[in-house]
Amino acid sequence: MYINPWHKIDGMNNYFFKQALLPQGWQDNVSVTIDSDGVFQDVSEDSKQHPSDIVIDCIIPAMPNCHSHVFQRTMAGLTEYKTSDNDSFWSWRNLMYQYANKIDARQLYHIARYAYSEMLLAGFTSVCEFHYIHRSLSDKNNTEDMSLAIINAAHDVGIRLTLLPVLYTQAHINGSPLSDLQHRFKLSSTEYIELYKSLEKQLFPEQNMAICFHSLRAVSIEQMAKVLRELDKGQTIHIHISEQVAEVEQVIEHSGMRPVELLFHHFDVDQNWCLVHATHLNNHEIELITQSGAIVGLCPMTEANLGDGIFPLSTFIKQKGCFAIGSDSHILINPFQELQILEYSQRLQMQQRIIASTKNTANVGTLLWNESVKAGAITCAQPVDGIQAKQLANWLNIDTQHPLLTNLNGEKCLDTIIFVSNQIKVDTYIYGQKYQGISKNIIENYKNTLKSLR
Ligand SMILES: [Zn+2]
Repeated sequence: MYINPWHKIDGMNNYFFKQALLPQGWQDNVSVTIDSDGVFQDVSEDSKQHPSDIVIDCIIPAMPNCHSHVFQRTMAGLTEYKTSDNDSFWSWRNLMYQYANKIDARQLYHIARYAYSEMLLAGFTSVCEFHYIHRSLSDKNNTEDMSLAIINAAHDVGIRLTLLPVLYTQAHINGSPLSDLQHRFKLSSTEYIELYKSLEKQLFPEQNMAICFHSLRAVSIEQMAKVLRELDKGQTIHIHISEQVAEVEQVIEHSGMRPVELLFHHFDVDQNWCLVHATHLNNHEIELITQSGAIVGLCPMTEANLGDGIFPLSTFIKQKGCFAIGSDSHILINPFQELQILEYSQRLQMQQRIIASTKNTANVGTLLWNESVKAGAITCAQPVDGIQAKQLANWLNIDTQHPLLTNLNGEKCLDTIIFVSNQIKVDTYIYGQKYQGISKNIIENYKNTLKSLR
């Protein structure tokens, strides 16, 4: 049965969690009150169970997804074969452009409904959609249809959307024009500002928007400055940065500075900024980011799939840097596995164990999960900052009856789900209610869409 996740609860609901991962760490006997809008009103630790409470064994907060290109879900798994002696990000991008050039607004709606539903099942209950296919397939002057498809799809399935319309104006940092394959992405900064203002008026009440620049390669400093002058009202600002070595080299050649240095040289980067990937950083750039409070948006599974490189997580955590996670190209939609590969890539590189850990938080799973939730909530500017008052009652319910979790406390359960088995059942709750899964209608429409695209 499919329950519309937007239906309201009659009055208050009281839950009692035997173990819960709160922002300050694991707590026992947590009672919460959820109001009719699905928002936590009260969260108390060490409390007593009441007869009317709905009792749950062990929960963790739902994960915000800080970076998504939802249309790319349709090509996941289709680029895992050899095309040349040196397959790379750039050869993957060619197929991605082919898909970007044949999806219409109706198809995008069905793709997004399915992929957003997959996210909800996997434990992501909010998403930042980094959206750059602006021009309609049938009418290149229509730059709104594709965004509206995303707005409607997110609303219909119940995921919390932060729409990031992307400014994308040039092919190279030297200003060379976009190719034919990139024509659907192209907006002038004036067109971007108009589109942004128009889309803002068409959001559903639970949705918001943030400013977004594709990259230092694809947008000039002057264009970024113009957009910020016109639109910056304290909302978040997202940009891809330092994902590929070739891109870093282009920026150095053009400006004499590394990408993060160039960005900080021209803008007051603070915690409102989400620097997506930030894979290739030197120590000065790590310092700039950590001291500014800016968040890095890591997409470990996509970065591995595309052969981007390894983010310097160990140094970053030592300097108290903030990181969120995103499923980006959606080669896989699973926050647990994103965190597994994030930690494992460090271990392989450093030939050590237990990298994501601090004096206060020894367990890797707990540290990675809580840090990603906290920073993820900032990147989407939505009330999804975990199990605390005034935040949405979104959480993941861990099946503690699974044999692998026998006699384990919450923090060991979380480590086990991340590192031992992705077969352990985790139910998503949104607005205080269990998500019932992907409807037949959404599945059928997605399959029909793929039939017409493949
Ligand atoms: Zn991206």
